[in-house]
Amino acid sequence: MNDRKLAFLYSPEIEGLSYPPDCPFKTQRAGLTRQRLKSFGLLGTDGRIEVAPRKALLAELKKFHTARYLKELQRVAGGDLTVEGFHMGLGGLDTPVFKDMFECGAWACGAGLVAADLLLEGRADIAFNLLGGFHHAMAERAAGFCYLNDVVLACMKLADAGRRVLYLDVDAHHGDGVQAAFYQRKDVMTVSLHESGKTLFPWGGFENEIGEGPGRGYNVNVSLPPETYDEAFLMAFDSVAVPVLEFFQPEVIVLELGLDALAGDPLTHLRLTNNAVVEVLERLLRFNRPMLVAGGGGYHVENTVRGWALAWRTCCGENDECDFGMGMGGVMLASSEWAGGLRDRTLAVTLEQRRAVESELRATIENINHQIFFRLHGIHACPNPGMTTPG
Ligand SMILES: [Zn+2]
Repeated sequence: MNDRKLAFLYSPEIEGLSYPPDCPFKTQRAGLTRQRLKSFGLLGTDGRIEVAPRKALLAELKKFHTARYLKELQRVAGGDLTVEGFHMGLGGLDTPVFKDMFECGAWACGAGLVAADLLLEGRADIAFNLLGGFHHAMAERAAGFCYLNDVVLACMKLADAGRRVLYLDVDAHHGDGVQAAFYQRKDVMTVSLHESGKTLFPWGGFENEIGEGPGRGYNVNVSLPPETYDEAFLMAFDSVAVPVLEFFQPEVIVLELGLDALAGDPLTHLRLTNNAVVEVLERLLRFNRPMLVAGGGGYHVENTVRGWALAWRTCCGENDECDFGMGMGGVMLASSEWAGGLRDRTLAVTLEQRRAVESELRATIENINHQIFFRLHGIHACPNPGMTTPG
């Protein structure tokens, strides 16, 4: 228990909105997380408030997206897919055309902006916008289930208010839309840890993408090999993200907490457990900065909901697993991993997995050292010496 003020962005108004039933992206995850938190008594009490979002206005969306694209997106949502819309990425396999495509994004963006306001006004220390995390959306292009980019707009709002913003993305996919938005800026430092573009959409996000012009050295990518496990992920986090935080000294942190890096996700090849989520949050909380936590990917719905609930509980400072889960009136949660609480069991790591992942990751971190830290910023990120491959 601590006295941090937490805000959860949610409104029943958005419950009717969803992606097509056969699309793996499930908007219901935010509402399910809310239900879980309420059943634990972790939401709706003093200092853990719910805040109703609003839809972003067109003028707000135009801070990042082009007028042409916004017009096209609204037209396509009305059922009229033109060649121009298709060239903007609309109507692809992972950007389906559906009635709520504009509305879903507009609510997510509005929620992100309200969350940013709560942080700026000091009404919340940490704001969760699990409606958002649409990090692939570009200024004039939809991709990867993302049409409107809430995290870019929230970062822009915070930066425009004069805050030094650190955007940290731990979704399994590279945060390419956010990278593109701030590639030439140094007031928003972007850091993405994601499965390598050699094996996963959006097929980029390599270490040599370090920013341009004034933004050179302010974009950091860490490619994770398939099968990356908790310990390896945390080695990368401690070697790269922590030195960046220490160097950049952000005034506010925006965390994209897509949970498709968890083992069992049907779309990716990483093998994290939600114990790594707790570790990441605990490291971030030590910096004691206002933080916006956005949703994102996560295609195993139960694992994602449990991970997000665990993230909220960690921010509440309530870490005693025994108090939770068992008192749920015999409600079994639909996951084979569930062992009575929110935390995943730990997963065994094979020797081959350890060897393959660790050597590739060490090379990546060396490369980041060479490309960014040492040369541009005069700091050195060194892999945790405690981690060694046996044999
Ligand atoms: Zn993702």
